[in-house]
Amino acid sequence: AKQHGRQVTRYFDPVIEAQINQHGQIERALALALSADQLRLYYQPIVDMERKVLGYEALLRWSHPELGMVGPDLFIAVAEQSGLIVPMGEWVIAMACQQLVAFQKCPVLAEQTIAVNLSARQLAQADLVDNIKRMLQSSGAPANRLKLEITESMLLTDIDKTREKLQELTRLGIRFSLDDFGTGYSSLSYLKKLPLSQLKIDQSFVRELLTDPVDAAIVKTILQLAKSLGLSVIAEGVELEGQRKVLADMGCREFQGYLFGKPNPLE
Ligand code: C2E
Ligand code: CA
Ligand code: CA
Ligand code: CA
Repeated sequence: AKQHGRQVTRYFDPVIEAQINQHGQIERALALALSADQLRLYYQPIVDMERKVLGYEALLRWSHPELGMVGPDLFIAVAEQSGLIVPMGEWVIAMACQQLVAFQKCPVLAEQTIAVNLSARQLAQADLVDNIKRMLQSSGAPANRLKLEITESMLLTDIDKTREKLQELTRLGIRFSLDDFGTGYSSLSYLKKLPLSQLKIDQSFVRELLTDPVDAAIVKTILQLAKSLGLSVIAEGVELEGQRKVLADMGCREFQGYLFGKPNPLE
C-alpha cells in the first residue's frame, strides 16, 4: 500500500495492480506455451583454449505468437513463482537428453556436453532424481554428457537434502556446475559440502576485467581457489579477445560468451 498525499492508504495501487494483472497474463500465456509447443532451446557454445567446442549451455526461449522470441528474463521469475518452472524444467532436460542422443551419431559431437539450468523449485522437488533417471533411461542419453547448473542462491533451503540429491545424480554420471559464482551467499561452504565439478565465473566479473582491478583480483582468486579444489572453471560473458587473453593468462581453460557464439538454435 502506498500513501497518496492526503488521501488514505490505497490498497489497490494502480501500478501494482497493473503489475499483478500483467503477472497473471504472463502466467496464463506461459501455461499455454508449454502445451502449445512454444518453448525453444537455444544453445551457446563453451570452448577451450583452441576455441574447440566442448559443449553447450541450453538456454530457454519462448516463441510467442505475437511478441516473437522472448528471453528468459521476462518469464523465468513468473514460472518460478507459479511452479510452472517444474514442468518447464523437465521439458528442458528431456529436450537436452534427445539432443545428446542425436549427438551420439556423430563422433565429433558425441564428446560434447549439454548443460542445463536447474531452478530452485526443481531442486526442491522430492522426485527430481527419479524424474531425471527416468528421462535418461527412456531417451538413452549418456548421463556423463549431461551437466546441471545450479546457483548459490537456490541452495539456501535444505543443504543436506540437496547434497543427497546431487550425490545420487553424480553417481549416475551427471556433473554439476555452480553458476554465477561469486554473486551469491556463503559460496565457500557449498564448495565443501556439494559434489561440484565446476565453477562458472559470473559475467559481471568478466565485464570489467580489463578496467577494474577489483574484478581482476576476484577472478584471479576464484581461479586459484578452483585449482586448489580440483574444480574446472568456465568464464562467462567473454566478449573481447582481450578478456579471453587475460583469463587464459590467469589459468582459465574454458570460455563462454559472444566472442565465441551467441545462443542459437542448434541447426
Ligand atoms: P545464465 O544461466 O547465467 O545464462 C547466461 C546468460 O548470459 C544467457 O542469457 C546468455 O545469453 C547470456 N550471455 C552469454 N554470453 C554473453 C556475453 O558474452 N555477453 C552478454 N551480455 N550476455 C551473454 P539468457 O539466455 O537471456 O538467460 C538468462 C538467464 O535465464 C540464465 O542466466 C538463467 O539463469 C535463466 N535461464 C535460461 N534458461 C533457463 C532454463 O532452462 N531454466 C532455468 N531455470 N533458468 C534458465
Ligand atoms: Ca547458467
Ligand atoms: Ca551464469
Ligand atoms: Ca546469470
